[in-house]
Amino acid sequence: MDIDLEFYSPVHQINNELFDKKGLQVFIKRDDLIHPVISGNKWRKLKYLLKKARAEGKTHLVTFGGAYSNHLLATAAAAAKFGFKSTGIVRGEPVNNDILFLCRLHGMNLLFTDRESYRDKPALFKKYFGDTPEGFFIDEGGASTEGAKGCSELIDELAETYDHIFCACGTGTTAAGIINGIQSHGLSTQFHAVPVFKNGGFIKGEIDKFLLSPADYELHTSYHFGGYGKTEERLIEFTKQFVASTGILIEPVYTGKMLFALYDLAAKDHFKPGSRILAIHSGGIWGLLGMKDKFKLKS
Ligand SMILES: *Cc1c(COP(=O)(O)O)cnc(C)c1O
Repeated sequence: MDIDLEFYSPVHQINNELFDKKGLQVFIKRDDLIHPVISGNKWRKLKYLLKKARAEGKTHLVTFGGAYSNHLLATAAAAAKFGFKSTGIVRGEPVNNDILFLCRLHGMNLLFTDRESYRDKPALFKKYFGDTPEGFFIDEGGASTEGAKGCSELIDELAETYDHIFCACGTGTTAAGIINGIQSHGLSTQFHAVPVFKNGGFIKGEIDKFLLSPADYELHTSYHFGGYGKTEERLIEFTKQFVASTGILIEPVYTGKMLFALYDLAAKDHFKPGSRILAIHSGGIWGLLGMKDKFKLKS
């Protein structure tokens, strides 16, 4: 079976008083609509990895993640769809949760490993799959040159140009791909990366690893809300407000933080009036399942 997914990722405008007042046109690219489970940037990152696995005759995808990893779930679903076996090596004590349930439902085999051995992923791959010809190593989060290549295609899809593009960053692969796309199209778009980790400055090195040529971009490191998977009341409030006023589902782990940054910077006059800004909705809404308690919504 050919490894391709026909998908729909439209650009929608977001209208509100803030953007009107500041004279901004803000849009969101709906990568969350790419696939219900292989959503957003995860399909873009997996596409060329899966093609490579197929070309090399590999039949078993082996990858890594935390217990709430969108990447594990996307890999499980992509493996099921394109006829691969899959194993997820999960950081930490054996647990079960909604995400891991969905991984297993798609046929993924899960192996739990302590945090210490999790650090050396190639060693774990070797330990479990070193003696077999079928295993195909996919790094945590799909971080790879192939992943960046897939993400750069997002820029090929744009029918219009933007002054600014915003994206949330985990491994930085998606950001690097988008920057490569901006450069290869010769666009003057300013790219903005919003790391979701504490001390996100290190992400510059990660992004730069996958750049085809050096590039300037803005890194907004103060929107982590305490770190990966951490939230604060004002982020939860923002997420609720956004969903309830746009009908676009987002989660507070990635897209919520990125949009919070965009709104905050708009309020602080970071953008010239008349600017056109594109936010990337990178998907991952299953992550909401692990955060229901944080929302304190009445049942
Ligand atoms: C995984 C993920 C990201 C991070 O992408 P990187 O390429 O690792 O930086 C961003 N948004 C969502 C919704 C994700 O699931």
